Amino acid sequence: MSKIILTGDRPTGKLHVGHYVGSLKGRVQLQNSGKYDEVFIMIADAQALTDNADNPEKVRQNIIEVALDYLSCGLDPVKSTLLIQSQIPELCELSFYYMNLVTVSRLQRNPTVKSEIQMRNFEASIPVGFFTYPISQAADITAFKATTVPVGEDQLPMLEQTKEIVRKFNSIYGETLVEPEVLLPSNQACLRLPGIDGKAKMSKSLNNCIYLSDSADDVKKKIMNMFTDPNHLKVSDPGKVDGNPVFIYLDAFCQEHHFEEFLPEYANLDELKAHYTRGGLGDVKVKRFLNEVIQEELEPIRKRRKEYEKDIPAIYEILKKGSEKAEEVAAKTLSEVKSAMKINYFDDAELIREQAERFQS
Ligand code: ATP
Ligand code: MG
Repeated sequence: MSKIILTGDRPTGKLHVGHYVGSLKGRVQLQNSGKYDEVFIMIADAQALTDNADNPEKVRQNIIEVALDYLSCGLDPVKSTLLIQSQIPELCELSFYYMNLVTVSRLQRNPTVKSEIQMRNFEASIPVGFFTYPISQAADITAFKATTVPVGEDQLPMLEQTKEIVRKFNSIYGETLVEPEVLLPSNQACLRLPGIDGKAKMSKSLNNCIYLSDSADDVKKKIMNMFTDPNHLKVSDPGKVDGNPVFIYLDAFCQEHHFEEFLPEYANLDELKAHYTRGGLGDVKVKRFLNEVIQEELEPIRKRRKEYEKDIPAIYEILKKGSEKAEEVAAKTLSEVKSAMKINYFDDAELIREQAERFQS
């Protein structure tokens, strides 16, 4: 069986380092591994509209930002198909049929959607499209017959929902859809990177992000103002490493060679953590080190972005070509789905013959 990747992002803002460690960096590695037959990367504008119906301009403006972030991180349009969700109408059709396979109470149990509803103060007035976006995500994944979906931890409930839809569809209509596997980052700290404010998740909607396209100065300012252990007031105080975002970021980004390069008094992160926990190590010193580490990762991305920014029409062309290719694949799946459901009446010679006979007799 072919190995196919599908993943993507909502164009609700520029991409941040949470996206990078949670999914983007891994995607580039998978793309370059040569182990996958197809890689589809989707800019999920239709999904972004489910909670931005009154602000389509935000979505429209951010499509190019996300595409620039993709390319500057190393997604390569020769190896990966970059597509825009709304340009593939087959996805809506698939969602419509999948809706019949899911109950309202099942959707209500989705913990990610639950917390997103709370975050957006939607409790009293949830848009139906937002409430049902896990179904539309199942359409995205199955349309491309994805076997592997590399995402951050918050997407686990969506993958569960997709698997249930696939099983239900196949059990009613016969083996048609492919059950996907989720691929989470192997590094624990990357599963759900916290915000610079210490909140549980760095998220565009929470305004607590370090963006891939932030200037070196902005990144430094954000890091130097980051939330740390609130009880670590004096340098001599013992500090807490667990749940401290500065150390979580170091877990996510730092490698041993960074110590040789920027902080040779310590051999590795364990030694730095031990000193912080004992007391006698100030936040400023740790933050300066984190800044060096993150700048080293972001600098080449920023440079490549500047290059891509010089020819924006070429990027829209990449997205157009990718969307066209993706539509061909989705159309083929939709046609298989419709024939499995036996709603392909005009191609069904047997049906027409049976009906003709019935009315003759
Ligand atoms: P929004 O607030 O609009 O939902 P978001 O920041 O949550 O935006 P998405 O586009 O919903 O971003 O997520 C895209 C991908 O990035 C998903 O695979 C998601 O799991 C991953 N991701 C998002 N935020 C983080 C994070 N803080 N840590 C790790 N992975 C993340
Ligand atoms: Mg999200």
